[in-house]
Amino acid sequence: MLSVTNLHKYYGDTHVLKGIDVEVAQGEVLAIIGPSGSGKTTFLRCMNYLETPNRGKISINHVTIDAENTTKKQIHQLRQQSSMVFQQYHLFKNKTAIENIMEGLIITKKMPNRKAEELALSYLERVGLKERRDAYPSQLSGGQEQRIGIARALAMNPAVILFDEPTSALDPENVGDILAIMRDIANQGMTMIIVTHEIEFARNVADQVIFMDQGEIVEKGTPEEVLVHPTYERTKRFLRRLH
Ligand code: ATP
Repeated sequence: MLSVTNLHKYYGDTHVLKGIDVEVAQGEVLAIIGPSGSGKTTFLRCMNYLETPNRGKISINHVTIDAENTTKKQIHQLRQQSSMVFQQYHLFKNKTAIENIMEGLIITKKMPNRKAEELALSYLERVGLKERRDAYPSQLSGGQEQRIGIARALAMNPAVILFDEPTSALDPENVGDILAIMRDIANQGMTMIIVTHEIEFARNVADQVIFMDQGEIVEKGTPEEVLVHPTYERTKRFLRRLH
């Protein structure tokens, strides 16, 4: 369903992604872990061309893109395959909760207002915020903002949702709620790639775990293989540091 082949990214002379290969099947959850600066966020942002990779191929569904030979149309098609949930939520501050969810439906999906509103409301309900539909982001807690971020991603009905450390800006008491929603989404069969420091969550929810370091995939496998019985010293050291 999703594959990445030999993906490279440079920022100037800095080689940030050094040939990343990933395969994710329909309905699978991939967790990416690794130290700060290892390239996890850059990888995720390359998946929807928020960052432009220098080399490699990305395929999601029927859309395949070769970084060395892209068209605007291909980039547009690739972006339609995924939704991103950001660490800092990235909601429109001047729009209400429901308007934040409606925006993509109206602009990208060309949905009529009434239909977009109906759909947005159903997703607000799904994340337990129906009664806050007219609140602005400044009137919501971080956990509530992130729930809107997740509802917005789901509403676009993407082939895959990309989560970039979705709980790391939250107060501890909100983390569990967001992880529970994510687990729920995974259980309903959504394909997900999650950059996370929540090792316990990755162990329980992911089908596949990747450990990245210095722009490379050091180790990949089942949660059991990577998180419980890692092969490489770099992985072991990283996991030890988290405990
Ligand atoms: P963290 O866990 O801290 O978010 P990360 O694993 O997600 O880290 P990235 O944010 O992908 O790592 O960064 C990978 C490397 O690329 C780092 O060395 C970072 O300094 C560099 N980098 C990231 N964004 C840019 C940019 N826009 N311009 C230049 N260098 C960048």
